Amino acid sequence: MPIHAHRPVTLGDLIEDGIGVFCWCIRCSHNAVLDAGILAAQLSPAWPVPALCGRLRCAGCGTKDVAARPAWPAIGTVARHD
Ligand SMILES: [Zn+2]
Repeated sequence: MPIHAHRPVTLGDLIEDGIGVFCWCIRCSHNAVLDAGILAAQLSPAWPVPALCGRLRCAGCGTKDVAARPAWPAIGTVARHD
């Protein structure tokens, strides 16, 4: 059994997959997709994505009540069949 099976997704994981970090403000709903590489340079590639909460500041209202999750591609774009 791999011991890391249930570890949180890290910034390094997102960089490998070419996925950004979707962040949104709990107070004013401002949201943005941040570059995982830039965040990893400021923090660490091993930084868990859920732990970004409290490290980011909203560009709209300035609060730190900002949540983050991987910016998975929309399901609709994955389901194309050509
Ligand atoms: Zn805000």
